[in-house]
Amino acid sequence: MTFKDEIERRRTFGIISHPDAGKTTLTEKLLLFGGAIQEAGAVKSNKIKKGATSDFMEIERQRGISVATSVLAFEYNGIKINILDTPGHKDFAEDTFRTLTAVDSVIVVIDVAKGVEEQTEKLVKVCRMRNIPMIVFINKMDREGKDAFDLLDEVEQKLGLKVTPLSFPIGMGYDFKGIYNIWEKNINLFSSDNRKDIEETIEVSDLASPELDNLIGDAAANTLREEIELVDGIYPEFNKEAYLNGDLQPVFFGSALNNFGVRELLDCFVDIAPKPRPKQSEERMVNPDEDKFSGFVFKIHANMDPNHRNRLAFIKIVSGEFKRNAPYLHVRHNKKVKFSSPNAFFAEKKEIVDISYPGDIVGLQDTGTFKIGDTLTEGEVLNYKGVPSFSPEHFRYINNADPLKSKQLFKGIDQLMDEGVAQLFTLELNGRKVIGTVGALQYEVIQYRLEHEYGAKCTYENLNVHKACWVDPDDEKNEEYKEFLRVKQRFLAKDKRNQLVFLADSAFSLQMTQQKYPSVKFHYVSEFE
Ligand code: GDP
Repeated sequence: MTFKDEIERRRTFGIISHPDAGKTTLTEKLLLFGGAIQEAGAVKSNKIKKGATSDFMEIERQRGISVATSVLAFEYNGIKINILDTPGHKDFAEDTFRTLTAVDSVIVVIDVAKGVEEQTEKLVKVCRMRNIPMIVFINKMDREGKDAFDLLDEVEQKLGLKVTPLSFPIGMGYDFKGIYNIWEKNINLFSSDNRKDIEETIEVSDLASPELDNLIGDAAANTLREEIELVDGIYPEFNKEAYLNGDLQPVFFGSALNNFGVRELLDCFVDIAPKPRPKQSEERMVNPDEDKFSGFVFKIHANMDPNHRNRLAFIKIVSGEFKRNAPYLHVRHNKKVKFSSPNAFFAEKKEIVDISYPGDIVGLQDTGTFKIGDTLTEGEVLNYKGVPSFSPEHFRYINNADPLKSKQLFKGIDQLMDEGVAQLFTLELNGRKVIGTVGALQYEVIQYRLEHEYGAKCTYENLNVHKACWVDPDDEKNEEYKEFLRVKQRFLAKDKRNQLVFLADSAFSLQMTQQKYPSVKFHYVSEFE
């Protein structure tokens, strides 16, 4: 197979959902289709179980499982599929945001009864910002839920999507009879008692045919005819180009648990989902089929075991071939590095591989040289954009509790921030350090890890911050900007990349500041055009 063929046959994507919508179950069924696992139950949920929030070690242990499920790769009809894990738990939303920089498309799973939930909204918003192609899977059709049309409306309104169903449910819950596949024009009848590995489908080229009445009964057949007519009338025809541009999202219905409607989803996915896409670096656009290797770090996983303090850095390959033992340029350090044991990921295991292709993820052993967003190349200076930080939700001062260990403390903080555990802000006024996190839990994690991995002790002190806003430095010469810097000095800080951040103490003060200094531009994300 040529290098181009290898790129052509890769699909790298993530499944996003609110916890409990069925992401793990769907992942598992996809792996079953790929023959990558033999039985249900093989994929460990990386879900943080409810009630575990009081015990962060338990959470970290559970999260540890997610190393195994960070990347799940399998083959289906000659297509190499890489599923990147995206934690649904809100305290780990940052992890998921960053992983979304490494996917070429996503599948959004929605629970038919619960509809669009909070985490789904947040994650879809990030995908929309990047025009990531999305397919929607409405799950749990074997349960009573919302009316299909109402739900499609809700998806459009709450998620800001433009949808078009490619399959449609026949009944629901107790009366769920199956799925009409609009994409392939056939019907798949549901029977909940037999766990089907391969579904049998019945061709229905003409919905008007009396055969349909025989299959599902007169009443259901008539309803389906009316509904499909409505679908044709309301929703645009599927258009691959629009989907790839992020302008149109096809919708499938099914039940992951019953392995129903999953094959339809998968077949359509391998057909329409994008192969590895070009990626913008600060310097230029990089195409996957370029000869020279380049890639970037989107995730770092630390080992919590103090005896094995190594970390695994996850690299998404953007262009060229990644080869074992080849010297690559660590752009930020301007240093050549070699990797003797790069890991590739398969369904449940990782293996050392000699060569990987664009779209693939490799795991590199790291002793602290990488941070999230780092770029590796064959020599060219490239910096991949698009691993932004979002404003944290919680802010606390971090204080050194053991003056003899300040070096250890700073080293520890530095490394934990590189891993993306939390964000560090240094106040302009007095140099005090502020840790910002997405979940309150991270403070305990940081304290524990500083002590056990770095031998340093810290305490926290509350700080009232509503949001961190990155300040656009474009107007440095502007008088208004200078006044803003002077008046608001005590709310200003620098992030790790030395970018200026305004720590607004309330929504009101942010609004007032914005009104007073209209030319100063604030951003909720650390990267802006
Ligand atoms: P995740 O948190 O999104 O990974 O959700 P899981 O895959 O762990 O599923 C959450 C719960 O919903 C589990 O108890 C599943 O068995 C159940 N579930 C998943 N899919 C379906 C489905 O199609 N129908 C029904 N009735 N339950 C489902």
